[in-house]
Amino acid sequence: MHEDGIQRHMRDVLNTEDADVIEGYLTDASNTRGHAERLVLPQSTKEVAAVVAHCQHHAIPLTVTAQRTSTTGGPVPEGGWLLSMEKLNTVHAPDDVDGGVILGAHQAEIQHDGLYFPPDPTSRHECSVGAAIACNASGARSFRYGPTRAWVKAVEWVLPNGEVIWVDRDTPIPSGWPQVGWKEPEVKTAAGFFPADNALDLVIGSEGALGVITRARLNLIEAPVDVLGLIVFFPNEAEAVEFVNQVRRGAARLGQPAAPGALNPTAIEFFDANALQLAASRIPDLPPAARTALFIEIEHDGDPPVDGWWEAIVESGALADDTIVADDEAGRRRLHSVRHAIPAAVNETVVANGMPKVGTDFAVPDEALLTMMNAYQAVELPKVCFGHIGDNHLHLNLLPRDATELATAREAYVQLAREAVRLGGTVSAEHGIGKIKRALLAEMVGCEVVEQFQALKRHLDPNWILGRGTMIAKPD
Ligand SMILES: Cc1cc2nc3c(=O)[nH]c(=O)nc-3n(C[C@H](O)[C@H](O)[C@H](O)COP(=O)(O)OP(=O)(O)OC[C@H]3O[C@@H](n4cnc5c(N)ncnc54)[C@H](O)[C@@H]3O)c2cc1C
Repeated sequence: MHEDGIQRHMRDVLNTEDADVIEGYLTDASNTRGHAERLVLPQSTKEVAAVVAHCQHHAIPLTVTAQRTSTTGGPVPEGGWLLSMEKLNTVHAPDDVDGGVILGAHQAEIQHDGLYFPPDPTSRHECSVGAAIACNASGARSFRYGPTRAWVKAVEWVLPNGEVIWVDRDTPIPSGWPQVGWKEPEVKTAAGFFPADNALDLVIGSEGALGVITRARLNLIEAPVDVLGLIVFFPNEAEAVEFVNQVRRGAARLGQPAAPGALNPTAIEFFDANALQLAASRIPDLPPAARTALFIEIEHDGDPPVDGWWEAIVESGALADDTIVADDEAGRRRLHSVRHAIPAAVNETVVANGMPKVGTDFAVPDEALLTMMNAYQAVELPKVCFGHIGDNHLHLNLLPRDATELATAREAYVQLAREAVRLGGTVSAEHGIGKIKRALLAEMVGCEVVEQFQALKRHLDPNWILGRGTMIAKPD
């Protein structure tokens, strides 16, 4: 964009220096706090491009912020300007949306017409499509469908110099760009620039450090006719893990159909004894002998495969008669009340303690699941563990009660991250690196790869304006 074009569009961009307004944009779900001098709210791609070009020209740090549900400090500014995506929220077609559109609202809308966009971060009703792509977000259904990456066909990308390009998987990475050529761990992961062979995969997961995703074409599929939900209670953890290993055998995964006769769940979620105990007062149906629960979702074509599951549950050593089956409205209500009771109880404990929780987002290979679970159990602090066990991706939530325990929790977190890496896993399976896991990413990938990331960043963003502090540090 020419200088006069930049100036013309800049004149129209909504913006403010009002500290009281900016105050509402300075933090995210990690409680990281930042500062910024100006907030800009562009209403078109041209305005985004003008802001980015202006900031590059004047070396003004620029942080992209969407709905600030990040748990890693990614949208939190370390000075400079903040670019909010909230006004870029047009749905052009079911598969063609602006980056600021709210993910869950769009999914609900298209599902009325039988269409389905599978990525399901728990925060989907609060977060934006552009950020889900920028962070390569996932959720429970990533067991079947993989992360957001797999469901994006093309994006409109405002480069750090303000140039606007559409990229898809046929768009080569320009030959002059420094290469990112490392090998990701073979687990669910959202850590570091993707070792891409095309421009689309490079920008997906780059957490706002390589540009702004202003619009996206989504890969939609036919929505499942219905979903069968199960909560299966177990008297101990070992039997639950054995059951997970059994039911995920032969299940359909991204790009791989189910084996004949496989039970074929869409999502398998785990809740440990502490999680159930913490939420006990809110769960009227909790069987007294339950020490673990698995929440399982099975998409089907209108004929719920109840018999096959029932047989497997009975044989597994589960508290079979206490299983909650959600194949009608009443069942779904019971399932949701149990499911929501647990995070609600965790949040209440955090408030009562007056201390932040320290939560992990590590994933490990199948064969390392039990070792990692044992490492979680060994932490001698109040804790609950739950999450996406189908992907060996559990969230351990440490719940410190005072400053000493908080320091212990933070130290334990680092040790557990190292253990996950040692076992062939990742320091972030879905929440990304942001500002608070930079050191862990460096430990995971090593300094040569960090230098590759830095070289690419420097090439695209010579004044290092975008997402300063996110993912990689600016070299001195
Ligand atoms: C309760 C809770 C549950 C969560 N559950 C999950 C989960 O199950 N799975 C999961 O993956 N994550 C989860 N998250 C993390 C978070 O919700 C996701 O990463 C989400 O995609 C962030 O969306 P957002 O709109 O809030 O973006 P923000 O938090 O505002 O920004 C996130 C990052 O993306 C960048 N960014 C935002 N928009 C753009 C854009 N258009 N172009 C380029 N960069 C951009 C920002 O600079 C920042 O680095 C959860 C968070 C919370 C609080």
